[in-house]
Amino acid sequence: MITVTNARKRYGSFAALDDVSLDIPKGSLTALLGPSGSGKSTLLRSIAGLEALDSGSVTIQGRDVTEEPPQRRGIGFVFQHYAAFKHMTVRDNVAFGLSIRRRPKAEIDKKVGELLEIVGLEGFRHRYPAQLSGGQRQRMALARALAVDPQVLLLDEPFGALDAKVRTDLRQWLRRLHDEVHVTTVLVTHDQEEALDVADRIAVLNKGRIEQVGDPVALYERP
Ligand code: ADP
Ligand code: ADP
Repeated sequence: MITVTNARKRYGSFAALDDVSLDIPKGSLTALLGPSGSGKSTLLRSIAGLEALDSGSVTIQGRDVTEEPPQRRGIGFVFQHYAAFKHMTVRDNVAFGLSIRRRPKAEIDKKVGELLEIVGLEGFRHRYPAQLSGGQRQRMALARALAVDPQVLLLDEPFGALDAKVRTDLRQWLRRLHDEVHVTTVLVTHDQEEALDVADRIAVLNKGRIEQVGDPVALYERP
């Protein structure tokens, strides 16, 4: 589904991506795991087509990602510090992508209702982001990213700013969401436990290279 081929990216003399190749299967939840500075975000941004590679390529379903802007390619994002529209309710934030696409109100209400139920925010649709906890805001962000039925969901340390208990809860939400929606998902994390817990595939990055790729069991059993 997503194919990264011999991706290289330098910042000055520093190789953020050093000949990275990776296949991400359709419908998988793949974690990019590695320490800070290992190139995870650069790789994620390359998948989004937001990073101009020095060489190599990224394709999604055979199409080069630099050919079209991300919103046209059906890519949903969630970042660590999610920017919600403060003046809009939860409902309107989640509906945003559908509203700008001028979808009928009945369709929007149905979709938003389904997503808020999956992320456990049904009772919160009339609240404003400031009235939500950090974990609830990230769940809203997940629902918003999914509202437009993206073919790919990219998550850059989405739970990184939250405390441990909330992170654990959110992992379960993400897993449940993925089991229901099956959208091809790439999660950037430096947290091994999080990757093992939530992903069905893990690519381990170090110093701009992929050291190993496999399912959590295979990686865990490796000496
Ligand atoms: P990670 O997500 O694993 O923490 P990044 O992909 O963000 O790693 O960064 C990899 C390396 O590239 C880091 O050393 C970082 O400082 C460097 N880097 C990232 N973006 C830039 C940039 N725009 N300019 C210069 N260096 C950068
Ligand atoms: P999408 O429909 O692809 O999910 P978003 O709704 O995330 O797009 O955001 C649309 C645009 O609005 C982006 O460029 C984003 O950076 C910007 N944006 C998101 N939240 C805010 C905010 N609170 N204030 C200003 N701009 C924002």
